[in-house]
Amino acid sequence: MFEYTPPPALLAERVILITGAGDGIGRAAAKSFAAHGATVILLGRTISKLEAVYDEIEQAGHPQPAIYPMNLEIASPNDYENLANTLETEFKRLDGLLHNASILGTLTPLEHYEIDLWYQVMQVNLNAPFLLTQACLGLMKRAKDASIVFTSSSVGRKGRAYWGAYSVSKFATEGFMQILADELEVNTTIRVNSINPGATRTAMRAAAYPGEDYKTLPQPEEIMPLYLYLMGPESSEVNGQALNAQQM
Ligand code: NAP
Repeated sequence: MFEYTPPPALLAERVILITGAGDGIGRAAAKSFAAHGATVILLGRTISKLEAVYDEIEQAGHPQPAIYPMNLEIASPNDYENLANTLETEFKRLDGLLHNASILGTLTPLEHYEIDLWYQVMQVNLNAPFLLTQACLGLMKRAKDASIVFTSSSVGRKGRAYWGAYSVSKFATEGFMQILADELEVNTTIRVNSINPGATRTAMRAAAYPGEDYKTLPQPEEIMPLYLYLMGPESSEVNGQALNAQQM
């Protein structure tokens, strides 16, 4: 694991938006950020899951979160503008943005990859983070030290047969992260980095590796040190880096 022991109030006063906050790694990140003092905005498509995370955070006595239902597959540029305007009105700031939501698509040779599914994966995994980032940048530029974190994968750093649109979307995510980091390096205090979570016990992992003994995998909660580090002030000088939440 990435080694980092965060102070309890690491993220106090920060407002952080997490996509795909209702399940898996996004759920763990939302709870962990809230436990370290952040006000978290839970964005996702299944409202009941978001409500369950909301309740857990509230019952634990952490800062009151907010739910923002949104289906990243069908959201229009206008929807992203509305989101940014709502954040501005309700919170006046945005200090952190975790692009976490993704879909796996299917594992199949490129020759046979279903074209509609290819578009769908690119929409959720790549185009949605672009649209969300573009809409939120103005607000984030006003934060003292803001952090944008993209979620990659080992197949976003080295191609592997049959991983198709998912792998290509993650390579593109790494490129997007590098370009944005370079553009924001001058004249802003926003840092931009990517995380490869590594094999983690979630529904997506189980779908990709149905034969695997899932009990051997770390829980999403265990990979949080890197997420916390990148969202907190101690990483303010880290920019444009492709990092690993687990030891490779
Ligand atoms: P997961 O358990 O499948 O959770 C993904 C989350 O994204 C869910 O909350 C899901 O919402 C949400 N989501 C999917 N499509 C959406 C859409 N159209 N609009 C809004 N939200 C949407 O996956 P995970 O394993 O936690 O993965 C989190 C991130 O880590 C992903 O970027 C993934 O590529 C990356 N990753 C994971 C692993 C691993 O081993 N788990 C390894 C490498 C990289 P619903 O709950 O409503 O479906």
